[in-house]
Amino acid sequence: MADLDFKKINELSEKYKADMTKFLRDMIRIPSESCKEKEVVHRIKEEMEKVGFDKVEFDGMGNVLGYIGTGKRLIAFDAHIDTVGIGNRANWTFDPYEGMEDDEIIGGRGGSDQEGGMASMVYAGKIIKELGLAKDCTVVFVGTVQEEDCDGLCWQYLIKEKGLKPEFVVSTEPTDGGIYRGQRGRMEIRVDVKGVSCHGSAPERGDNAIFRMGRILSDLEKLSQNLKDDPFLGKGTLTVSQVFYTSPSRCAVADSCAVSIDRRLTWGEDKESSLAEIRNLPSVKESGDRVEVSMYTYEEPSWTGLVYPTDCYFPTWVLPEDHVVCKAGMKTYEKLFNKPGRLDKWTFSTNGVSIMGMFGIPVMGFGPGKEAQAHAPNEITWKNDLVTCAAFYAALPDIYVEDNK
Ligand SMILES: [Zn+2]
Repeated sequence: MADLDFKKINELSEKYKADMTKFLRDMIRIPSESCKEKEVVHRIKEEMEKVGFDKVEFDGMGNVLGYIGTGKRLIAFDAHIDTVGIGNRANWTFDPYEGMEDDEIIGGRGGSDQEGGMASMVYAGKIIKELGLAKDCTVVFVGTVQEEDCDGLCWQYLIKEKGLKPEFVVSTEPTDGGIYRGQRGRMEIRVDVKGVSCHGSAPERGDNAIFRMGRILSDLEKLSQNLKDDPFLGKGTLTVSQVFYTSPSRCAVADSCAVSIDRRLTWGEDKESSLAEIRNLPSVKESGDRVEVSMYTYEEPSWTGLVYPTDCYFPTWVLPEDHVVCKAGMKTYEKLFNKPGRLDKWTFSTNGVSIMGMFGIPVMGFGPGKEAQAHAPNEITWKNDLVTCAAFYAALPDIYVEDNK
């Protein structure tokens, strides 16, 4: 590391600004909603091969993995390369897939969330190769699928089925120049109420599932005001996002009602505690077996056709401030940019939920763009962010290895 030339790394990254811009705009031009990423991962493979990656492959789920080096220390960078849809096209002032650019910004769906991270990763690989960096490492740059639909599923597959176990992972989701070390978890819960229908003219003969759900909803609202708080991650939240019912007619007592709940989990909250809180609500307890509280399951096929079912549970994770990976990130930032880094957290969810939340592999976030751009119309990112991030990714492995032999 003594001979790591930070000036040269910054210069090279600046030199590749135009290539990163072109590559990102190509990715934006290829629509790549979750489960439909086939074309974009092939475009990424092509760019990795063009800049000289040592090996590029797909796994069974359709994630693309590009490797640099064959050293003993395995370090991974992750960019999910699926995007959400465009929403109402009328809210965009430019074509979300053709995109736009000026001297400073690039617009289009996926710009900030988060194909920009992929552009920086590929050119970090090129810089590592060109300068002969990360000699002790195998650096794997992964473009992951289905994150917008089911965060972390791709890394469940990579870790359990592909056996990929890096020392740590850098998530390149947008961090607005900060080094991020955690996020609230989340889960998708369903409450089902059974009733008995009868003629609406004599409702006492039946058992109205909607009235019963009404009592449960008011208990849920009270619960939502009394959830745990955490000084770093903030409060846990609970909101009802969907309602369903069945009833034989408008002149009948409803015989079922169900709701979906979006639950965000702060530090100290997990799937067992959150389900128990709901099962212990007075209105749920008094309903006995008329009520069922459960978790949703995700089982959509990936673009390769693979179905890899999982509970819709995405655990909370936090990397301690003084963790060696945070320290390596802060040091890399300071050496490259001559100013102190900023440690912070994401508001939204990332693949960190499985990498660190389920498997305990440390995750640090540093990525181009801003979180507020995610899923919004007129999504943009910044060309200078692409440059900053590529330099950071290129310098980080050697700094980490030097301090953690
Ligand atoms: Zn994202």
